[in-house]
Amino acid sequence: MASFCTKCGAALSPDKQICTACGAPAAAGSAVGVSAQPALPPAPSGSSAVKIIVIVIAVIADVKLCVAVSKAGRVRAVYRIAARVAEKV
Ligand SMILES: [Zn+2]
Repeated sequence: MASFCTKCGAALSPDKQICTACGAPAAAGSAVGVSAQPALPPAPSGSSAVKIIVIVIAVIADVKLCVAVSKAGRVRAVYRIAARVAEKV
């Protein structure tokens, strides 16, 4: 009973458990095929990617907000210094 490699399609010898063409393990039965291809649900990975994007956007927004606040604080400090100078003069 001849079997073929699931990766490259080369003919597999029944006494060898590894494909001689590409080195992939020979699929002996359906159990090996199932274990070789673990079913990963795509929905959780997609939602996690969306969460990462949201977190990145939130971090960038926080940084911009902090920069704006610090700039406003510097402007206020400059106004205070200018007011003191104006009072002395
Ligand atoms: Zn192969």
